[in-house]
Amino acid sequence: MSQSIPASARDDAARGPAPLRRKAAEKRALNRAAAGAERAPGGRRRLAILGATGSIGVNTVDVITALGGQERFVIAGLTAQRNAARLAAQAIALGAERAVVADEAAYPELKAALAGSGVEAAAGEAAAAEVAGDAQWVMAAVVGAAGLPSVLRAAESGADLALANKEALVCAGDLLLDAMAAGGGSLLPVDSEHNAIFQCLERDQSHAVERLILTASGGPFREWSLERMRAATPDQALKHPNWSMGAKISIDSASMANKGLEVIEAARLFGMSGEAIEVVVHPQSVVHSAVGYADGSVLAQLGAPDMRTPIAYALGWPERVPAPVERLDLPTLARLDFHAPDLERFPALRLAKEALAAGGAAPLIFNAANEVAVEAYLARKIGFLDIAATIEAALEAAEIPPPAALSDVFIADQAARRVALERVDALS
Ligand code: NAD
Ligand code: MG
Repeated sequence: MSQSIPASARDDAARGPAPLRRKAAEKRALNRAAAGAERAPGGRRRLAILGATGSIGVNTVDVITALGGQERFVIAGLTAQRNAARLAAQAIALGAERAVVADEAAYPELKAALAGSGVEAAAGEAAAAEVAGDAQWVMAAVVGAAGLPSVLRAAESGADLALANKEALVCAGDLLLDAMAAGGGSLLPVDSEHNAIFQCLERDQSHAVERLILTASGGPFREWSLERMRAATPDQALKHPNWSMGAKISIDSASMANKGLEVIEAARLFGMSGEAIEVVVHPQSVVHSAVGYADGSVLAQLGAPDMRTPIAYALGWPERVPAPVERLDLPTLARLDFHAPDLERFPALRLAKEALAAGGAAPLIFNAANEVAVEAYLARKIGFLDIAATIEAALEAAEIPPPAALSDVFIADQAARRVALERVDALS
C-alpha cells in the first residue's frame, strides 16, 4: 500500500529518486549558475565518465559518440583504474580535456599515449576525484566501493549524477543522498532495473505506488542444482546469458548477489521498504522492471537488453534522445516468462534482504564481504557457493557501528573486509 512510501517522500516521489526530491533549491540555483558559467561556448554540456574503460564506460562513450560527440558535448574528463591504452584512445577520440588513471603506475604509459594530443594526463585517486567535481553530468561507472570518493565528489559538486556504481549507494546510502541534496544535482539511475522504475514512476502519483517489481535474469545458473553450482568455475559463472558486463557484476549476477544489491539500491533510491520490493526471475531480460499501483496497474519498461538505453535515458533526461540499440520485435520474442526466485539456491539474495531489514552497517558489510569473496572466487581460491557463505559469516561476525561520515565508511568497509578475508583464508 501507499504506506510503504514514507510520508515525507509521498508528495513527489514519482518525480524521481529521493535525492532528486530532497535537493535544496537555493544550493541548486547556485550550482546551476556556476555550471552555466562553466559551460563551453555554444552551450555544450560538460560531461565526465568515471570508469570509462569498463563495460558501462565503453557503452557511455558509444552513446555520446552516436549523439555527436564533441560537437555536442565537452568531455571534461575520463578516468580508469589502469587501462592507459584504452583510456588514451577514448580521450583522443572524444577530444577530452583530461584523462586520469587512478593507479599511478599506469601514468607513464598514459602520458606517452597522450603526447601531442592536447589531452592532459594525470594519475592518482585525488586527480580522479577532481575530474568528478568538474562536470555538469557525471557517469559513475567505477566498479565497487572504490568508486565512492569520486561519486561523492560529483554529488557535492551539484552535477547530475548518472549512477551505475550501485555499490557506492549500498555502502554509503545516506551520505550519498545527503551529498546529492546539498549539491542540488539530479540522481539518475543507470542500473537497468532502477532506470526502468524511474521511467515508470508517474508524476505526482507516489501515494498510489504499492510495490516495485525488480526483474532478474536468473544468471547462467538459473536452472543449476546446488551440487552443480558448488563446482562451478569462474568461466562458467562469467557467461551471462543476456548481458555483456564486467567480471564483478557478472559473478554477482550468477550468485544473485547483484539482485540483492539492487533491492538495497531500489530501497535507497525510491524510499521504499524491502517488503514493497518484489524480485521476479524473467529469463529473457526484456521487461527491465515495473511499478505496481493501487488501481492494480503495473507499468513496466521493456527494451532490448542493452545498457545503452538506460545510459541514453540518463544522458538525455528529462528528454529522450536516440540510442544506437536494437529495437524490440514482439512477435519475434513470442513469449516472456516469469517465476519466483529460489532463495535456497541463491542465498545471497536472501542475505541482502536481511541486511536491508537489519539496517545500520549491514548493507555495507554485505557489499564488502561480497567484493572480497568475488575476488577470491575469480582467483580460484574459494568455490562458488563460498561467496554467499562468506557474506553470511561476515554479517554474523562483524560488529560495526553504522557509519555517520565518509571516514567511518572506510573504517567499516575495511573492518568488514578483514572479517570476510579471514573466512576466505579459512576456506582456501
Ligand atoms: P568493469 O569492470 O567493466 O569496469 C569498471 C571500470 O572502473 C573500469 O574502467 C576500471 O578501470 C574502473 N575502475 C576500477 N577501479 C577504479 C578506481 N579505483 N578508480 C577509477 N576507476 C576505477 O565494470 P562494469 O561492468 O562497467 O560495471 C561498473 C559499475 O556499473 C558496477 O558498479 C556495476 O555493478 C554497474 N553496472 C554495470 C552494468 C553492466 O552492464 N556492465 C549494468 C548495471 C550496473
Ligand atoms: Mg541491474
